[in-house]
Amino acid sequence: MKASRVYNFSAGPGMLPLPVLQRAEGELLGLPGMGMSVLEISHRSEPFERILSSAQNNLRALLDLPPDYRILFLQGGATLQFSMVPMNLLRGTGKRADYVVAGTWGEKAVTEAHREGEVRVLWDGETDEFTRMPRRDEWQPDPEAAYVHITSNETIQGLQLQWDPDAAPAPLVCDMSSDFLSRPIAAESYSLIYAGAQKNAGPAGVTVVIVREELLERVPAGLHTMLDYGVHAAKDSMHNTPPVFSIYMVHLVTEWLLQEIGGLRKMAAINAEKAALLYRVIDESDGFYSGHAQPDSRSRMNVTWRMADSNLGPLFVEQARARGMHNLKGHRSVGGLRASIYNAMPLAGVRALRDFMLEFQGEHGP
Ligand SMILES: *Cc1c(COP(=O)(O)O)cnc(C)c1O
Repeated sequence: MKASRVYNFSAGPGMLPLPVLQRAEGELLGLPGMGMSVLEISHRSEPFERILSSAQNNLRALLDLPPDYRILFLQGGATLQFSMVPMNLLRGTGKRADYVVAGTWGEKAVTEAHREGEVRVLWDGETDEFTRMPRRDEWQPDPEAAYVHITSNETIQGLQLQWDPDAAPAPLVCDMSSDFLSRPIAAESYSLIYAGAQKNAGPAGVTVVIVREELLERVPAGLHTMLDYGVHAAKDSMHNTPPVFSIYMVHLVTEWLLQEIGGLRKMAAINAEKAALLYRVIDESDGFYSGHAQPDSRSRMNVTWRMADSNLGPLFVEQARARGMHNLKGHRSVGGLRASIYNAMPLAGVRALRDFMLEFQGEHGP
């Protein structure tokens, strides 16, 4: 390997699989048979059309998507979806939108939805200081709601929904940015799924939006062209120049998931194994480390914890970095530490962190 790579535990952009980076490197100066880089080709060219449809087909296969779902590649990040969802599905309906707020990203989604109509916070995790997801028996969406919005994985707090929300009586909309493609999902339960690519699916610059066709019929007339799901669906994400390189990378990542990992069931098993290594150290540390999330809501993507002696946090981060483990500092709003272990984080990286956690406790614990 030319560059020496570290284990990057950043919450996003996250690591990309090494074979994906190597393939991109190998093809960077020219796509096979093209004599032109993917950075240079026209989005209207046949090779790019093939990349786009292959990325869609791979996603369809990985998620076992029924045929009546459309896959869009949009820009503006998951953050723009906080606005596009209520513009397209709430505006002018006279209905109310239900939001589950389990952490920072859910809060941000609500802020934007308020600009478009009436919003109800169906479940609010703030009373528990954002340490858990709702339980199944707390899940009571209003059948009359325009839609119900959830965040499957709260990246900052390190919380993940560990049960499948059944098809809600109202259309279910899910921000899956930080656990997209990390496990199988019951796709037919959702009416709309969105995910910024840079956590699990590719680089920044593209957001995958998966929408049930039936929902497109509800989009109100008169929206700005670029903010209208109907336009993007009708033009197959090519109303204007799409983020060609980012879509190409999503294509490579989905190939890797299908061909090298063997699908989302396998990916989920690997992710569960990785997360268990870290939670075990936390649980067996006699309080030297304490997890932020309540056990039934623990994220397998973002592991958040604190040190009993918070003064040790910076030392932990610094010494881990010296061992090639980067970006372990927790988000400023939560404090403590956070290890983001997305799909591309190898088991070896998590083992190295586990070993370091044990060693650090040995040195600084009581
Ligand atoms: C990172 C993240 C976002 C924001 O994504 P951008 O692509 O930066 O807009 C939204 N929701 C969740 C759950 C995230 O993890």
